[in-house]
Amino acid sequence: MKAYSSARDEFEGEAEVFLDANENSIGSATEGFYNRYPDPHHKALKEKWSTIKGVSADRIFFGNGSDEPIDLLIRLFCEPGLDHIITLPPTYGMYGVSSAINAVENVQVPLTRAFQLDVPELKSKWTTNAKLLFLCSPNNPTGNLLGREDMLKVIQEFPGIVVVDEAYIDFSSEPSWIEELSNYRNLVVLQTLSKAWGMAGIRVGVAMADPYIISMLEKIKPPYNLSQANQELALQALQNENKKKQQVELLLTEREKLIPVLQEMKQVNEVIPSAANFLLVRFERAQELFEYLIANKVIVRNRTSNLNCENGLRLTIGMPRENERLVELIKQFYRDRA
Ligand code: PMP
Repeated sequence: MKAYSSARDEFEGEAEVFLDANENSIGSATEGFYNRYPDPHHKALKEKWSTIKGVSADRIFFGNGSDEPIDLLIRLFCEPGLDHIITLPPTYGMYGVSSAINAVENVQVPLTRAFQLDVPELKSKWTTNAKLLFLCSPNNPTGNLLGREDMLKVIQEFPGIVVVDEAYIDFSSEPSWIEELSNYRNLVVLQTLSKAWGMAGIRVGVAMADPYIISMLEKIKPPYNLSQANQELALQALQNENKKKQQVELLLTEREKLIPVLQEMKQVNEVIPSAANFLLVRFERAQELFEYLIANKVIVRNRTSNLNCENGLRLTIGMPRENERLVELIKQFYRDRA
């Protein structure tokens, strides 16, 4: 296919009068100036991300959240009705949703009870039609990292593309897989501005990979997938790396404070080790507790029906007073039922 060519792609050099894109030349109905189409190539953002991450700009793709590259990768590599993706439940739900929307089968190979890769089982599913394998590390909803040796083996041996979803990597002490990009052409690493950078509201995610894969993603994406406002705000956020680091530190301190408090409760059966900004916790009477929290205006995520997550509630680490409120309510719930 031939990619859409946007108005601004069709000339080079300096121009003074833009009468090419059917915009409103006078201005916007807002205070700011948003009357022009945004840069479809996200040049400024890519330069900044490249400096921060030490990854060259031709290995960087920006999407409308990392949900967008998840969908685009499936559309890029899989033939509907013929190819399939492999996912490892319990894991992030959008891999399966995007594959279903695209009429691509999702072959599920469960993680072990310790939420690690089952490499022999995985290998038994490596047919030539397995085009994409999604590894989420740190994993959502469990919070744990997948073992590095297992991941490396899979990246080296899988016959298709391995997508490592690192949405939560900033909360972990492990190095990112982006360091391995130049060694493995079948590796795609996803990151996002929605978590540590605190920018979930603007919808900006990143895929990093071999330049050829990036060029194909660029070709199939909607031309203006990131609005002018998104690009400006994302750039502003990236200029405040220190603020991000401070917030991550606070959230990690809060996470480490919350773990022993939960573990001390006799109604808490397990706190899964977390390298993310949330904890998966197995509670007695989890469903009831979940409903009690909602009734008291505190919303957590009920993961009890996810594979191997029996009695599990996923608690996002919030601000100190939010975490205190959560603990207070959990204690009250069990006290009232003692
Ligand atoms: N990957 C994982 C593992 C996630 O948990 C999420 C969001 N919950 C995403 C990707 C998507 O994030 P976004 O689209 O906001 O970048």
